[in-house]
Amino acid sequence: MRPLDIQQIGDELAIKWDDHSESFIKLEKLRRLCPCAGCNGEKDIFGNVYKNPTKPYTPKSFQLIRLAYIGGYALQPHWADGHGSGLFAYDYLKRAAESSDADTDDAKANPANGNQ
Ligand SMILES: [Zn+2]
Repeated sequence: MRPLDIQQIGDELAIKWDDHSESFIKLEKLRRLCPCAGCNGEKDIFGNVYKNPTKPYTPKSFQLIRLAYIGGYALQPHWADGHGSGLFAYDYLKRAAESSDADTDDAKANPANGNQ
């Protein structure tokens, strides 16, 4: 699964996939689902998750500066607040786009992976 075309339309990304399906994902949701270690935590060999204290997002956190294509398997968004280390593998990106917004909120509200 690869994107044939990605366009920003307003505050959303429209992604056209090579199977001719289309996904839409809000930039804010994309940023909240950033899979980098800083946003999503890093696991040690015991499975403990180390995570930075939740950084407050600013309006700039959801402003996309540019998108980089990484090695034909992932997309790397660069955000206006300077963050840009998250690599969105295409299958992750598609699942993220297809997940409901409610799921996103649940994941963020769930303290199970939080700081200890
Ligand atoms: Zn991140």
